[in-house]
Amino acid sequence: MFSNKDIAQFADLDTPFYYYDLKLLQQTLDACAAAANAHDFHVHYAMKANFNDRLLQSIHATGFGADCVSGNEVKKAIEIGFPKEQIVFAGVGKSDKEINEALDLDIFCFNVESIQELEVINELAQAKGKTAKVAIRINPNVDAHTHHNITTGLDENKFGINSWDLPLCAETLKLAKNLEFVGIHFHIGSQITNLDVYKNLCVRVNEFAGWFEERGFMVKVLNVGGGLGIDYQNPEQQIPDFIAYFQIFADFLNKRPNQEVHFELGRALVGQSSSLISRVLYVKNGKKKNFVILDAGMTELMRPALYQAYHQIENISRQDSEEVIKYDVVGPICESTDCFGKEVLLQETKRGDLIAIRSTGAYGEVMSSHYNLREAVRSSFGQGG
Ligand SMILES: *Cc1c(COP(=O)(O)O)cnc(C)c1O
Repeated sequence: MFSNKDIAQFADLDTPFYYYDLKLLQQTLDACAAAANAHDFHVHYAMKANFNDRLLQSIHATGFGADCVSGNEVKKAIEIGFPKEQIVFAGVGKSDKEINEALDLDIFCFNVESIQELEVINELAQAKGKTAKVAIRINPNVDAHTHHNITTGLDENKFGINSWDLPLCAETLKLAKNLEFVGIHFHIGSQITNLDVYKNLCVRVNEFAGWFEERGFMVKVLNVGGGLGIDYQNPEQQIPDFIAYFQIFADFLNKRPNQEVHFELGRALVGQSSSLISRVLYVKNGKKKNFVILDAGMTELMRPALYQAYHQIENISRQDSEEVIKYDVVGPICESTDCFGKEVLLQETKRGDLIAIRSTGAYGEVMSSHYNLREAVRSSFGQGG
């Protein structure tokens, strides 16, 4: 995957850094746009996956909207140039300040996650003499069959309004003079690789849309969220199967003629187009284990420490050598969970070698921290090999 030219270029840069392959990013965005356009589906990019300016510019230029989960993400989306009518704002804990700012910016829609939040948005909109557009985020109790820590659509999760609260939600909407109901919203989890999960979601979406229609609501927008996974085991399998993904919704959603279907993809759009490039500081050969100690740690890439996420690890300085050894690949941070992989097979590794941790475009750079007073992580851009 990495050309000799890439590796020569990396050798001159200070490590660690996120390398972004802008060519692969654009190919991924184009594949998604083409597959969505075939059904007239709308895609909002979930900015929390990666809000690096350079990536956002490409995503905006491809024509996607923005799905935000904080007031600062809404402001950033506007700054980058996303049209306000293509910006949605979700999150269980929107502060009054964030709601006010989003009202001032006239975004398309708030995805509302509780009845109390509906009341607050109504009051704040009234104080401004405005009408806020809202979609109701419903917790559909659909199991995403993904890692426990990234499941969001079960009764036990904090996200969305539960089905038993919908009658009160409908009443609140009818009484709220400064709210305009535009539709219903779902997001059941992340890194979903079993597409059958989405069939189950469609069934629930149809039921809930019918429920609102029976009570006299016009459900203009069906927003089915995101969560499409990528193949972390095969970083070279780079572009997710967007065609199969959208086809499920085309086949199983009961879409009315003037309804719009919205998606909020994050990981699937950006995940594969980046690697974290790091240098080996030390190699420590123990009795039971060999350790490769990198200059990158959980402060640069937190996913392995946070939810035991798998990332493929490669020694790109020794791609030709045949002999492989098992290493635990760890970072320099003073935490035992600061480990990128256990018993990883690598070519015999030496101090100074460059290590690529693959598939780090989503929830990588954005989750970096200053723990241990570490420096901010850098990024570098290329056009692929
Ligand atoms: C995080 C999030 C997404 C995107 O999830 P991915 O797994 O990255 O596709 C979409 N919608 C909402 C509301 C989110 O919080």
